[in-house]
Amino acid sequence: MISTILIIGGGQAGAQAIDTLRREGHKGRLILVGDEPQLPYQRPPLSKKFLAGELAVERLPFRHQSFYDEHGIELKLGVSATRLDPAARKVALSNGEEIVYDRLLLCLGATSRQLTCPGADLPGVHYLRSIADVPQIQAAIKPGARAVIIGGGYIGLETAATARKMGCAVTVLEMADRVMNRVVASNVSQYFEQEHRAQGVKIICNTRVVRLEGGTRVERVVCADGSTHEADLLVVGVGAVANMQLAVDAGLECENGIMVDEYCRSSDPVIYAAGDCTYHPSLRFEMRVRLESVDNAFEQAKTAALNILERPTVHDRVPWFWSDQFDNKLLIVGLSQGHDQQVTRGDPATRSFSVCYLKGGELLAVEAINHSKDYMAARKLIADRARPNIDKLADPQVALKEAL
Ligand SMILES: Cc1cc2nc3c(=O)[nH]c(=O)nc-3n(C[C@H](O)[C@H](O)[C@H](O)COP(=O)(O)OP(=O)(O)OC[C@H]3O[C@@H](n4cnc5c(N)ncnc54)[C@H](O)[C@@H]3O)c2cc1C
Repeated sequence: MISTILIIGGGQAGAQAIDTLRREGHKGRLILVGDEPQLPYQRPPLSKKFLAGELAVERLPFRHQSFYDEHGIELKLGVSATRLDPAARKVALSNGEEIVYDRLLLCLGATSRQLTCPGADLPGVHYLRSIADVPQIQAAIKPGARAVIIGGGYIGLETAATARKMGCAVTVLEMADRVMNRVVASNVSQYFEQEHRAQGVKIICNTRVVRLEGGTRVERVVCADGSTHEADLLVVGVGAVANMQLAVDAGLECENGIMVDEYCRSSDPVIYAAGDCTYHPSLRFEMRVRLESVDNAFEQAKTAALNILERPTVHDRVPWFWSDQFDNKLLIVGLSQGHDQQVTRGDPATRSFSVCYLKGGELLAVEAINHSKDYMAARKLIADRARPNIDKLADPQVALKEAL
């Protein structure tokens, strides 16, 4: 009988798993261990409205304390899991406690990738992953302050947009030849570069940071071409890596994340994993992926919870993601890897367009910029393995859902 379910990690996935487990009838012990002191909370506002001071900290948690009390959830917050012993089905915690589980769910998330260049350890080098990171960044965001953002990915660009809206002089330094180069089409990168530049953000691509300099705190960034950028605020957004050391040390199979199957089960049959920390199969795209998105954490956590309750369920989703930058909403659905055709619907100059990716005539992915209708239609078409008519697809007057 499953008596004790232990969840490690109180983020998006951990919170959702609790919800599903209780909703679906688990009456036994349900314990959540999280190393952050706060109740589980949503991260997306950290680079957007919360950073801008437009959303109160009370609005970040998914649930109030009363929810956990009413549902008999044992919360152990500000406590980390330090050792996992799968043979004894036991987890040791930083407070000296040991918990024996019947089923374990690892929702460990990811950690910001750290800069390694000289000076990277100077005080004032900020990363943005948790609530605790925000106050120091906010304190440096002042009208006229020089903000340098290293990395032109989502978090870098969202932070740049927020800092700019709050009056900073913002420079984004990107090593690749365009922003968000790993995840969007080149015309989408160009569009976002133009939007940022129009708002006064300076974007410098093809530039490699070689050194950070300063005295008691970081003061400037030095690039390979010898250019320097003075910084009153420095935020680094150069990606994230899966938190998997606990699983690695316990002998679970890991590679680019905790390896799980389509049931979110790890190489140990009573240990499951969900969210940013997993390297999991995408059934629709027939490849393994590690995704950092709210939707993936939410859906995998639901799937893992159902399987823990012995209701076999596969995680078979078309992934999606969003990013907000100034007044633009970018929605990405599907995975574009391996595409052999790309079609742009609409004119970027109208500030509303989409880029569609196909392989062998089948729709793989869509990047919709300020176009939620295309995004909604694409979710279904991609799941259905639809083969759109290319002329109709390219015609923005034809609704995407009709482009068959
Ligand atoms: C600034 C920012 C903006 C984002 N914006 C978007 C967006 O616009 N759209 C979108 O789709 N996604 C966005 N994301 C990504 C999204 O928030 C993540 O994909 C999601 O939070 C993943 O959920 P998770 O539960 O897997 O991990 P997390 O939410 O990271 O939670 C993992 C938790 O586990 C804890 N933990 C780790 N190891 C241990 C341990 N040994 N013991 C105890 N606790 C442990 C961590 O500290 C953390 O609290 C954003 C992320 C960030 C940081």
